Amino acid sequence: MKRPHRVFIGLGSNLHQPARQLRRALDELSGVTRTRLVAASGFYRSAPLGCPEPQPDYVNAVAELETALPPEALLHELQAIETRHGRRPGYRNAPRVLDLDVLLFDQKQVSNAILTLPHPRMCERAFVLAPLVELHPELVLPDGRKAADCLAALGAQRIDRLAPQAAEAPEYKVA
Ligand code: ADP
Ligand code: MG
Repeated sequence: MKRPHRVFIGLGSNLHQPARQLRRALDELSGVTRTRLVAASGFYRSAPLGCPEPQPDYVNAVAELETALPPEALLHELQAIETRHGRRPGYRNAPRVLDLDVLLFDQKQVSNAILTLPHPRMCERAFVLAPLVELHPELVLPDGRKAADCLAALGAQRIDRLAPQAAEAPEYKVA
């Protein structure tokens, strides 16, 4: 790959054995055309945010990729993976079997009908920032802020890093 783009993907699931969904999704990310999976964070459990009705906890992680694809083509690949996992359109913040978001794509800033970069809500979400900072403690966002400082500013959001064996167990389910 000639000068690949460096990309971070946020993964989330709160249905149908979430940790298993994430493991499978990481596998599939490593199979995306013209793309290499460089690293994956640990798995984190978080309480759902901004949803009208009670729903199960989420399992979240962040993956680092190198890709030669343009951002829209990568998003298309991510949506194909979501669909393969059985994701169906739902209301905003509905429970989901798999959510794949492009968090960062190089230092690109984009805003159009299908894609916003960086992901517009990433700095409000500890379940995005904690795994991101785990991968890259010194990461600087396109607006010049350090991801670790954004995480520290969030304070109270509850998020637990899962023990590797809990994340690995095929029968693991969130409570
Ligand atoms: P969220 O991930 O914020 O809970 P959804 O996954 O339901 O929301 O939103 C999907 C829509 O968001 C898609 O139609 C996609 O075009 C749009 N979108 C805009 N920017 C991004 C991004 N950076 N990553 C993923 N989807 C994005
Ligand atoms: Mg999404």
